[in-house]
Amino acid sequence: MNLIMLGPPGAGKGTQAQRLTQTLNMVQLSTGDMLREAMANETEIGKQAKPIYDRGELVSDEIIVDLISERLDTLDRDQGFILDGVPRNAAQADAVDKMLSEKGLTLDFVIELDVDDDQLVARVTGRYTCAKCGTGYHDTFQKPAVDGVCDTCGGTEFKRRSDDNEDALRARLAVYHEKTAPLRAYYGDKGILHKIDGMAAVEAVSGALDDILGAS
Ligand code: AMP
Repeated sequence: MNLIMLGPPGAGKGTQAQRLTQTLNMVQLSTGDMLREAMANETEIGKQAKPIYDRGELVSDEIIVDLISERLDTLDRDQGFILDGVPRNAAQADAVDKMLSEKGLTLDFVIELDVDDDQLVARVTGRYTCAKCGTGYHDTFQKPAVDGVCDTCGGTEFKRRSDDNEDALRARLAVYHEKTAPLRAYYGDKGILHKIDGMAAVEAVSGALDDILGAS
């Protein structure tokens, strides 16, 4: 089973994708994570992407399509994958379709997580992660039990994404509404789009997603 997680920044795509890697042994292919890794390692792609990423704009389709294609080639054929953060525009949707058909792969579900912009701003500008184990926290909604100490690993260093500030987020939301949201119609026409209320509690979103996937 292969799927796409569609939704604006902060909608919970990564949270759900990560959960499915545990519950259904799927592979999460997050283009944002791939770019953050490339930037941390200061690769050519990372250096090229950094200023664009920090402004909240889209990096080139070519870079994205190459990143995804390489990763797909390393997967076990019987392991399902989740495209998280890709496609982001019509050209990427076409490229993904073409790539999957060339590789003999199919797309079973496109899951749209729907969340109001104001809620996204509150979620994204307050989020941070443990630098050691990656557990996610939030200034208001999800603080560690002991201030400054990670609940999971006891780590005391935390990090925030360089694009999780209000200016970059507003730019990312504008890009989402203009370029990514129209993909709803594209996948709706193919009959594989399913919408979930991403404003609900995480457990409710997880339940709704599992129902769609037939995994409950
Ligand atoms: P994300 O982690 O999915 O929120 O992505 C963070 C940033 O990485 C985006 O604002 C873009 O700058 C870049 N990015 C991630 N995925 C894509 C993509 N499919 N196409 C273009 N840029 C992307």
